[in-house]
Amino acid sequence: MVKTGDAIRESFLKYFESKGHTKVASSSLTPKDDPTLLFTNAGMVQFKNAFLGLENRGYTRAVSCQKCARAGGKHNDLENVGVTARHHTFFEMLGNFSFGDYFKEEAIAWAWEYLIDVVKLPKEKLWITIFKDDNEAFEIWNKKMKVPTDRIVRMGEKSNFWMMGETGPCGPCSEIIYDQGEDTGCGCPKCDIHCECDRHLEIWNLVFTQYDRDENGKLNPLSKPSIDTGMGLERLTAVIQGMKSNYNTDLFTPIIRFMEKTSGKTYGKNADNDVSIRVIADHSRAVTFLIGDGIMPSNEGRGYVLRRILRRAARHGKMLGINKPFLHQSAQVVIDMMKGVYPDLVEKASYITKVILNEEQRFMETLDAGLRILQEETAALRQEGKSVLPGSLVFKLYDTFGFPTDLTADIVKRDGFTLDNDGFEAEMEQQRIRARGAWKGSGEEAVAECYLKASSSGIVSEFCGYDDVSKSEATIMAIFMNGKQIESARFGQKVEIVLDTTPFYGESGGQAGDTGYLKGHGFVFAIQDTKKPIDKFIVHKGMVIEGEITVGTKTQFIVNQERRAAIAANHSGTHILQAALKAVLGDHIKQSGSQVNAEGLRFDFTHFSKISDEEMQRIEEIANNMIRKNLDVKTEVCALEDALKTGATAVFDEKYGATVRIVKMGEMSMELCGGTHVQRTGDIGLLKVVHESAIAAGVRRIEAVTGKEAFAHIQKVEEELKRTAGLFKAGSLEVYDRAEKILKEKRELEKEIEALKGKIAAKDSGDLMNQTKEIGGVKVLSVEVSITDAKTLRDFGDKLRDKMESGIILLGSKAGEKALLLCMVTKDLSGKYHAGNIIKELAPLVGGSGGGRPDMAQAGGTQPENLSKIFPALEKLLVK
Ligand code: ATP
Ligand code: MG
Repeated sequence: MVKTGDAIRESFLKYFESKGHTKVASSSLTPKDDPTLLFTNAGMVQFKNAFLGLENRGYTRAVSCQKCARAGGKHNDLENVGVTARHHTFFEMLGNFSFGDYFKEEAIAWAWEYLIDVVKLPKEKLWITIFKDDNEAFEIWNKKMKVPTDRIVRMGEKSNFWMMGETGPCGPCSEIIYDQGEDTGCGCPKCDIHCECDRHLEIWNLVFTQYDRDENGKLNPLSKPSIDTGMGLERLTAVIQGMKSNYNTDLFTPIIRFMEKTSGKTYGKNADNDVSIRVIADHSRAVTFLIGDGIMPSNEGRGYVLRRILRRAARHGKMLGINKPFLHQSAQVVIDMMKGVYPDLVEKASYITKVILNEEQRFMETLDAGLRILQEETAALRQEGKSVLPGSLVFKLYDTFGFPTDLTADIVKRDGFTLDNDGFEAEMEQQRIRARGAWKGSGEEAVAECYLKASSSGIVSEFCGYDDVSKSEATIMAIFMNGKQIESARFGQKVEIVLDTTPFYGESGGQAGDTGYLKGHGFVFAIQDTKKPIDKFIVHKGMVIEGEITVGTKTQFIVNQERRAAIAANHSGTHILQAALKAVLGDHIKQSGSQVNAEGLRFDFTHFSKISDEEMQRIEEIANNMIRKNLDVKTEVCALEDALKTGATAVFDEKYGATVRIVKMGEMSMELCGGTHVQRTGDIGLLKVVHESAIAAGVRRIEAVTGKEAFAHIQKVEEELKRTAGLFKAGSLEVYDRAEKILKEKRELEKEIEALKGKIAAKDSGDLMNQTKEIGGVKVLSVEVSITDAKTLRDFGDKLRDKMESGIILLGSKAGEKALLLCMVTKDLSGKYHAGNIIKELAPLVGGSGGGRPDMAQAGGTQPENLSKIFPALEKLLVK
């Protein structure tokens, strides 16, 4: 092999580093700063604010290899996957970026140099597209890079003009296209660079962000234009390795080999199987990385896209004849291949594969349920003489049970059924419309623009409250009111204040913000909450309750210390809880969220079954042992890389800076955390779990309290126990035995009552027997009784029949608004009389209907007032 995918990725990053670019790690697939975006779908996503001039990153040139997903939302290549050789749901995008630094000339020259001189692509196979009006780009390609005129194609706005949104930064782009040769194309005579087939492969897109589009659609030149480029690593690797398909590169072949082994099918032998194998290879990567970035299969938003990808892969497995979960194993292959570049996959491996296995198993369940429904529905349709499956059913199977239409078609074909494809398509279209409407953002708050502006203008606030909250003074740097930066605020105004340094903790990492007061010369500001919307930017929210505050003046602080101490105890308690959970349940425990405030703590984590009482007891025991050991809580600041090497627990999908803080408690707990903590674990006092529940598939939540709250909780529970004990006149520790004894006695009494009732009924039935008549040589007992429930009526009837030996019994009763009827015919008469038929005749008299067996039948009716009519009616029936 000429060059491995790994080596190509590395060479790109190295090349641009040598051109003064800062290497920036890939951001998460869930774009944290852009709640409107479904997935990170390009390298520029994490730099959006840098392009807008709202964020100063400390560098103006960057290079990255970005994890991207295009499986939903605006960019959706899902349907192409497996069919084209070049589209993936998950891929890696190589990119170089300039934030108002270099522009078109360098961007083009370096792209060309990298492709021609570094990875040595043959010039003669490359084509260039440019935006139709971009003569500047034409000149650079043609005159400086010496690309022949007929190889530079001018294209329209749709393909070669890029916009971030309706307004804002935008500009022309230029694509570099690789001609893979005639045999790769669709074969049609018109096939050229404009064709959608795989022949003319777009490998790199250079975006020249040079305009700002205003509300009127006018393009205003930017004084400092920017560069944003993106090149798919998989496509580049394919052309370098001389492969006509991304799937034939070493970025995919290990997964394909694994699938061959698992399915017993050989890749390249059968077109249908090949599509399935490609889909699985692609989707294995996608699900691994999506779950790795904290997305869980669910029925909405990102989680729904993940679920569909996962099920799509599973059904292709079924089409290959695989009848057991396999995707969790192909994901392991992906992890082994990619862990060198994405080391976090190693620690997440057991979690990722467990989530996948869990979902695979669930799908197998719906698969069976879907098959059952299909069977029932086809049986019903057959009875009606129909042979077309309605679109709504096909859609239900597709949507609810994850049944692809071709699978459905295949299953019913044997029974001579076809599908109503048009009806299905109509339902699908409805679904697409719903799905488009359903993605209204992830629910995260976007950072207010006024904060971004202030922060990028250089306003920075340092948190100084880890050890000492009594730091003396700070300067008011900015005041905001209703999204606008202002200079001063008066008594009674609700504003937000940023200081150069502050001991108030800004809400972040799940820890609640501090409250308290700012006090300065002639003013007091009451702080209701403190937030940290941006790193190093702490916002105090509250109201001026005395005087007037002005930017530039000094202030002192009063932090609500009691509250702060309770929050610290709960935060440290969370770390201890996590350590205890891992010790008892295993290493797959990963924090998926946490919330810490003065009242208690909430910890969400991945686990697939309910925690048993014994497990919970051990978890509490381990946690409280750690507390009683009174361990030193040590914090240390170091480089992120070093911290991860020490094995410190990092929170899933959290964005960390280059330096991080490690919080360590004894040997059992070491976490990356920026929160405030107790000094020694003993300060927590006590940790008590108060609630455990499931909040999503595979995610559980524990709520717990510490310190004073924990003590109060225990007192409350004890009080309740005492009250209960009082009722039973027992000591607290005897309540259980006493209650058990009383319940036993109660059960015995109930039995006794039943027996007595039986005796009374037997006596009653004896009395009733006197009313037996003879009609046409048959003994008949027909009477009204005062029994109000059907079962007791039946039991009573049984007793009468036993006594009667041979005859017919008809009982009627009024049960509130209803009438109840029962008819019994002894066995010896069953050839002559039919209880079911008798009831059928009589029930209408009381406004009901009914029927039943030859020996016993019951009915209900709505006209109890007519009950007396049934007895003469029976006599008439019998003499007939
Ligand atoms: P195409 O027209 O082939 O779908 P695109 O115009 O959507 O590509 P861009 O949005 O410009 O592509 O993305 C930049 C680069 O990322 C592309 O040149 C290509 O190399 C790569 N790329 C885009 N989409 C995918 C995908 N679904 N799978 C793999 N690589 C992709
Ligand atoms: Mg595309």
